[in-house]
Amino acid sequence: MRAGEEDLEFVSQDKQISEADVVVIGAGAFGVSAAFHLAQSGLRRVVLADRFAPGTQSSPRAAGLFKNVQGDETRTRLARLSIGKMLNLEAETGQPSLAVRSGSLMLARTPEHAAFAKREAALAQQWGIEVERVDAATVRRLMPLIEPAGLLAAYHIPGDIYIEEPVTLLQAYMKAGERLGLIILPHTTIIGIEINRGAVRAVLTSQGRIETPVVVDAAGAWARAVGEQARARVPVVPVRHQLYITEPIAGIEAHYPIVRFIDTAVYLRPARKGLLLGGFESDPLPLDPRTRPEGFSMDDVPLDVAVLDQHTASVARHVPVVQGAAINEHRGGLFTMTSDGRFLVGPTPELRGFWVLTGCNGSGFSFAPALGQMLAEWVMNGAPSIDLASLAPARFAIVPLDEDQLRAACVWQYGHYYDLA
Ligand SMILES: Cc1cc2nc3c(=O)[nH]c(=O)nc-3n(C[C@H](O)[C@H](O)[C@H](O)COP(=O)(O)OP(=O)(O)OC[C@H]3O[C@@H](n4cnc5c(N)ncnc54)[C@H](O)[C@@H]3O)c2cc1C
Repeated sequence: MRAGEEDLEFVSQDKQISEADVVVIGAGAFGVSAAFHLAQSGLRRVVLADRFAPGTQSSPRAAGLFKNVQGDETRTRLARLSIGKMLNLEAETGQPSLAVRSGSLMLARTPEHAAFAKREAALAQQWGIEVERVDAATVRRLMPLIEPAGLLAAYHIPGDIYIEEPVTLLQAYMKAGERLGLIILPHTTIIGIEINRGAVRAVLTSQGRIETPVVVDAAGAWARAVGEQARARVPVVPVRHQLYITEPIAGIEAHYPIVRFIDTAVYLRPARKGLLLGGFESDPLPLDPRTRPEGFSMDDVPLDVAVLDQHTASVARHVPVVQGAAINEHRGGLFTMTSDGRFLVGPTPELRGFWVLTGCNGSGFSFAPALGQMLAEWVMNGAPSIDLASLAPARFAIVPLDEDQLRAACVWQYGHYYDLA
């Protein structure tokens, strides 16, 4: 069974619905979290629609990593909130806990990256994150598979976590949402947004019309296409990302830390008794579903093992077990990149009642718990409890980039994931 193909029988199928308080488009990490939090905050008629089986596109293909050390204070607060929510998942949703409290190691192998890591660590500490510089012996004790000779700096972040099978978090939010009355509509494509006097009036779906004053565009790689239905600009560029999971390797323990090599932007973690490895190539592949045949899905994203071979080679000196390890699964999906590398969340300036939750920039899975809560607070109370003005769509309304500029900026952001200037 591959990621995303798990049994989704719990989904509330076959419901005929013609009115809703809010319709969330897309049951990926962002959509399921937004829908759960909207239902949790007291809205009675929350609808979550997906063109495919819910939870089967980019999100279940994620590595499942949650990272405390972030480039700015807003992201740090959101990351900490997300991790806290994962540690508290059972109490909040009634669903079994999923977080593996592995901690992580951030490793630098060049003087520039050592200086960068030092700065990141200092800033993270200033924002309340526990980060400790550790020596080679400690690296070895925490992660016996690492050969530390040649590392210039290593930092331990004990609070980082991962989720072994990302699809389980999507299922947890959907099941918990259903208990609160959330209606999930699988295989229901939003094909139009009805507008009345500058405000959302209804969504038109492949199964019929649903009247609603609020729509959340959480359509992932299709978010831009959905935005066009509402005549709202959603300037994201989907870009491919891949990883692999090896066959079991003797001696790997689930509690071993996540490892990040910042110079080559490669990450590893324990997975299914083997190792999961993924990374960010400097010349990535943008891929817009709008230019693909109708019916395009993440199964159609072309995978390229050569990219992962390069990542493997780039870390093999320090993690020798990855060289030649047998591969059990190779998977990939699409990030939604923005030109400034930040999320895109909040109300759109073009259309009242039309909200977006996208622009994952490679971290949508881990930020979805926090951003779903923020979006629900924003819809319900008029403002989120963490100031998200810097992430709101209005920032792109001032001087829109043309198509070539947008693509170039988004591709650049992808290539600089760990070392944003
Ligand atoms: C290999 C890989 C590894 C990753 N690792 C991590 C990680 O470790 N940590 C992390 O934080 N992030 C990670 N990510 C990024 C993360 O997966 C994404 O940020 C996240 O999945 C984005 O979720 P989403 O809800 O936007 O997209 P999706 O999960 O793709 O959901 C969007 C949904 O919208 C639906 N949809 C689209 N159009 C319509 C329509 N018109 N009508 C109805 N439904 C529609 C789609 O069918 C889809 O189900 C990784 C991604 C990949 C590919």
